[in-house]
Order: sequence, then structure tokens, then C-alpha cells
Amino acid sequence: MKAKFKDRLSVKVVLLTLLMAAMTLLSSVVGIISLSEFRDEYQQVKDHNFDLLLKMTELKAQTDEVIHISTQMLLSGNINELQWNLLEVSDKRLWIDKLFNQLTGHTDDHQELLILKLRLYSHLDEIARAVTKKFKFSEQFFKLYGFAEGLKKASLKRDDIAFYIILDNAISHFNPIVNKQLELNKEADIEALESYINKISLKLEDDELQYLQDTFLGKNSLSVSYQHYARQLDRLEELRLKNEAFTDLFVSSLGVNVTRLQDRFIEKLARLESDLNKRKQRLYLVVFSCLFVTLFLLLIQLDFIRRIELIRRIINAGDSDRIMNFSITGKDEISKMAYSVQNYIERLVKKEQEVLTISKQLEHIASRDGLTGISNRRYFETVLTQENTRYVRYKEVYCVAMIDLDMFKNVNDNYGHDAGDKVLIEFTKRVLLIIRKTDQFARFGGEEFVLLMPNTIEKNAHMLMERIRLVIAEKPYLYNGEEIPFSVSIGLTEVQFLQGDDALKQLSFADRALYEAKHAGRNRVCVYKS
Ligand code: GH3
Ligand code: MG
Ligand code: MG
Repeated sequence: MKAKFKDRLSVKVVLLTLLMAAMTLLSSVVGIISLSEFRDEYQQVKDHNFDLLLKMTELKAQTDEVIHISTQMLLSGNINELQWNLLEVSDKRLWIDKLFNQLTGHTDDHQELLILKLRLYSHLDEIARAVTKKFKFSEQFFKLYGFAEGLKKASLKRDDIAFYIILDNAISHFNPIVNKQLELNKEADIEALESYINKISLKLEDDELQYLQDTFLGKNSLSVSYQHYARQLDRLEELRLKNEAFTDLFVSSLGVNVTRLQDRFIEKLARLESDLNKRKQRLYLVVFSCLFVTLFLLLIQLDFIRRIELIRRIINAGDSDRIMNFSITGKDEISKMAYSVQNYIERLVKKEQEVLTISKQLEHIASRDGLTGISNRRYFETVLTQENTRYVRYKEVYCVAMIDLDMFKNVNDNYGHDAGDKVLIEFTKRVLLIIRKTDQFARFGGEEFVLLMPNTIEKNAHMLMERIRLVIAEKPYLYNGEEIPFSVSIGLTEVQFLQGDDALKQLSFADRALYEAKHAGRNRVCVYKS
């Protein structure tokens, strides 16, 4: 009997394995997804940090340039150059401000850098102011100087040599070509000029004195202008020194930040990478162990299925054909059980065959007559019943005869019981030699015999009965050298049409005919007439 599909153990086992395989697959997929997510995260961090580093480097480059421009500003030869530099500075400032905003919160000392930035800007403004002022004061100074030179030339044209010399003397204090460089300590020269003018004041006309004082010592004089100009140049020198110091400070400060960011970035990347590798290793471990377990389970289950199959075959073998024509190879408990069952079944089959033989023998014995070896009454009645059934259904005619040995009591009385037995055996032998194989000959009881002749009509049966009667009557039996004559009376009947299926009734017709034969004098054949 086959179990329902869902109840079959092998199916469940296979399903379990499939489930395990599916779980392995699922865990692998989940692991791979999480790993790729982590990889994305990692890429983001990497990009972000790289971006920061790039911005920081950009900031450093921009500020470097601004500082470079500040040096150019200090050296600018005219106001146009300065304005050009200022334009460039404002452009860079926009960049720097933007980068600063973007970097807010990403550097350790953002505050410090911000202060540094503001200092840079105010320093630049200071330079711009100082340079502008320098140009303004130099313009004033050279204008006044040119004016004084003009006066000098005019006095020469007038042939006022004395005033020309005075003017030349005074101008020489402020000649930028002769002096090469304007110095603040020229104040001594201004004092000397003042005392010189005072000394020669008596030789001068009033307007000339006034004129000299206005030009060289007054509020808007060449000396005041000179002082302004020189002070501004001095201021620029101060700024130049400050610029150098500031450059160093800024470069180192930003450089430190960039380096720190770079280090941190590399450290972070290394950490992330090692984390990623660890995760990868863990995932591989999980997936491989899952696969290994699944494989292991699969092998166990295959073995399990094999054993179940073996049990099934053993049970089938024990259940139906009892033939175990499959080889048992394993040494496991199921295989051992199979061996035992195989032995058991083999023993069982042997026993069964013995029983079968005995039962066949018994059956044979039960159907045979002990003395003559032919069928007995019980068996004959069974065969007769079958033949009658066939007749009822197919109308196959048959005949039945009842044969009785005549005056048999006398045989026993005259020759002994043993001789009687031998005569019965002799009679049987002679009949068996005549009848067909398909005829059924049986001892009905005592010295009374019956013969069933299937597929035989009355006429033919009658001829056969005559032959039997003659084969007996014509030859006595030789017993211990003594002749024992014997004869038979036979009652014959062809199957009679009856309502129903009573075979034994047909026997009674034969019996009636036998009775007639006896009555008529024995050793004869009588046929039943309905
Ligand atoms: P009938 O011609 O009228 O049949 O006379 P009969 O003597 O044959 O008939 P009866 O029924 O009077 O006697 C039958 C005898 O057959 C009686 C019995 O001793 C004998 N007999 C029956 N069975 C056996 C047997 O197996 N062996 C021997 N030896 N004799 C048997
Ligand atoms: Mg008799
Ligand atoms: Mg009799």
C-alpha cells in the first residue's frame, strides 16, 4: 500500500534538505546584500573623506595664493597693479569663504582657522591701505619736489643765482635719486634746513623767506610730504616683515590641518577596510558552514532514504513474493536487520515448501483409496459434481457406471481376506489398462467401484463396459498358484436431464441399473432407461 505523498518520510526528508539548501541560499543572499550595503557605506565614507581632503588641499592652495598676492601687493609699482591684485584677492576670498563654509565642523580647530582667516583678511586690507597711502604720499611728494625744481629753474632764468643756490641746497635734502631711499632719520636734515633758512633769513627778501618757509617747512611743505612718504615706506617694510611671519604661520597651520586630516582619513580607511574584510570572512564562514551542513545532511538523508528503501523492500519481500533478489551491502543496523529478515524468509520459504509438499501428499492420500491406489468415493463425488456442472452449462454429455464384484463374499470365504484384497487390486489394474486417461475411476466402497466417462455417449460407454466385464470374466486371478475366477456386474447410465444440479442423483440411476444386472443373474451390463 502506497502512503499519501505528503505522509511519505522520504519526501519529508527531501523537503527538509531542500529547506536547508534554501536557507543556506537565503543567508548567503542576505549576507551578500548586507556586504554590498556595507561596501556602499564604505564608498560613501571614502568619497566624503576624500572630498574633505580635497577641499582642505584646495583651501591651502587658495590661501597660499592669497598670501603670494599679498607679497605682490607690497611690491606693486603702480595703483593699477594694486587694483588688479585686489580684484584677484576678492576672487580668492570668495573661494576661501565657500571652502570654509563647506569645511565647517570637519576640522579639529576650525575656530583657530577662522581667526587665522580673519587675520589674513585684515592683514590684506592693511597692506592695501598702506600701499594706497604710499602711492598717495609719493604723488604729493613728487609733485611738491617737481614744483620746487621748477622754482629753482625759474630763479636761474632770472639770474637770481643766490636764490638758486639756496633752493638747490634745500632741495638736495629731499632728492630721492641722491638719497636713493627715503629715511625717517632725515628729520635731522629738516632741522638743519630750518636752521639754514633761519641763518640766511636776513639776506632774504620777506616774500622770499615766506616762500622758502611755505615750500620746505610749512604745513603742506615738501618736508612734511617727505615725512609722510618716508613713514609710509617704513610702514610697508614693517608689513613686509609681518607678511613673511604671517605666511609662515598660515602655511604651517593649514599644512598641519591637511596632514592631520590626511592621517585621519587613511586611518579611517584602514579601519573600514579591515572591518569589511572581517565581515567578508564571517560571511564566508557562515555560508561555507551552512553549505557543509547541508551537504552533510544531504548525505545522511540519502543514506537514510536508502535504509528506508531497504526496509520497504524487506517488508515487501516478506509481505508478497517472498523473494529478496536485491543485494544487501551495508553493515548498518538496517542492513543487519535485512540479513536477518532474509534468513528468516529463506527459512520460511523452505518450511512452506515442506508444508506444501506434505499438504499435497495429504491431499493425495485423502483423495486416494488405500488398497488400490485409485481415487476414493469423496474425491470421485467432487469430480462428478464438477462434470455435472459442466453438463448443466455446456450440455457436454457424460456417462457414469457402477461396477460391483459378483459374489465377492465367497472369494473371501474360500480363499481368505488377503486373496480378496489381491483380487480387488487385480481388478483395478485391468480396468485402468482399458479406460482413457480422462476417465475417472474410483473405489466407491467395499467391492463396489464407479467410473465417470466425460464427453462419452451411452453407446460408446456401453461398449467399454462390455470390454471391462469381459477382461475380468475371461481370465481368473492367479493367487499362490490357484485360479480364482471372478466377474463383475455393471450398471450404466448416460447423464439424465434433471431440474437442478444434483450429480449424486445420476449415481443412483447407475446404481439402479446395477441392481438390475445383479437381479438378472450377474456378470452383465445393464443400462438405465428413464
Ligand atoms: P453380490 O454378488 O450380491 O454382490 O454378492 P456379494 O457377496 O459380493 O455381496 P455382499 O454385499 O453380500 O458381500 C460383499 C462382500 O465383500 C462382503 C465383504 O467381506 C467383502 N468385502 C468388502 N470389502 C472388502 C475388502 O476390502 N477386502 C476383502 N477381502 N473383502 C471385502
Ligand atoms: Mg458384490
Ligand atoms: Mg456389493
